[in-house]
Amino acid sequence: MITIDGSEGEGGGQIVRNACALSLITGEPFRITNVRGNRSKPGLMRQHVTAVEAASVIGNAECQGLSVGSSELIFSPGRVVPGEYHFAVGTAGSTGLVLQTILMPLVLADAPSRVVLEGGTHNMLAPPFEFIERTFLPIINRMGPMVSAKLIRHGFYPRGGGRIEVEITPAALNSIDCMDRGEQLGVAGQAVFTGLPFDIAERMLNRARLDLASWPEDAFAIRELPVDQGPGVILLLEARYANVTEVVSGFGQLGVPAERLAKTSAARMKGYIESTAFAGPYLADQVILPFVLASGGAFTTVKPSQHMLTAIDIARRFTGKTVRLERQDGGRHLVIM
Ligand code: ATP
Repeated sequence: MITIDGSEGEGGGQIVRNACALSLITGEPFRITNVRGNRSKPGLMRQHVTAVEAASVIGNAECQGLSVGSSELIFSPGRVVPGEYHFAVGTAGSTGLVLQTILMPLVLADAPSRVVLEGGTHNMLAPPFEFIERTFLPIINRMGPMVSAKLIRHGFYPRGGGRIEVEITPAALNSIDCMDRGEQLGVAGQAVFTGLPFDIAERMLNRARLDLASWPEDAFAIRELPVDQGPGVILLLEARYANVTEVVSGFGQLGVPAERLAKTSAARMKGYIESTAFAGPYLADQVILPFVLASGGAFTTVKPSQHMLTAIDIARRFTGKTVRLERQDGGRHLVIM
């Protein structure tokens, strides 16, 4: 059994999710001690429990220590069975992070699956739906499988109640090289809101427009959702290139001025555009798993994040595969499987 100290490296929930996915794929059981040991409130939270439950349902796994607050988890995988699944994160916990846990095992299964996920679709510190749809899944699809995701209802933190539907046609993962973005095809900035004053979304968008002054005026828009999908507001900044799309998000937070959120998001988008790297920091940690499983390929990214380094380490423990990092000019890093 593989034993992992859950406080090492990034020390958060990503270790738990990646370990579940890798365990189902390799058939290796694991034990994590000090679960989320690097967090101020350590142990499994509701959304992590749902993610592990989802993994154990699709992969007939047996779990010990699977409860909210648990600091030790033992996971013994069974056979992954593709099919129709429905998982609800009881709170506004992120649907995207549950998907992150079960996607690769289902992508490598021997028949298609359809997964309905209910919970948060636009949460802080998790990939918003648009990132999954436009940034992450196109890379997976380029590797061979066919995965499509539909946003049926938005679910903002803290109310949740969102719904996404994912169709998965499996295939072996081909190794691919993602070195250059290709030419820029377009940019867009959207403030999506509901159940809050229009003024908040407008101030958010105006600040983004000011900071991204080179973007065309008609690249910016405000979208109001039906009131039963809120309350919530998010700024989505998108840069589309021939080979990759980056989505930077700024989540509305009580007590944080809309202008400040927009300023931070715009600065992150500018940083990405200027870096010329293929993958932004979030895409980089999320593609480690599929790239390692494809046994080859490479991508360029910005400065390696702790999340990415930890994902590399967890993948190595299950597969024995090492990943090389090389620094390139202009702060770019090359990640080679
Ligand atoms: P904790 O850190 O509290 O244990 P967690 O399990 O929710 O919580 P992490 O382990 O930090 O979270 O993992 C968060 C994941 O969400 C990472 O894979 C990261 O790339 C992704 N992510 C976070 N914010 C964004 C964002 N704005 N856009 C895209 N992906 C994001």
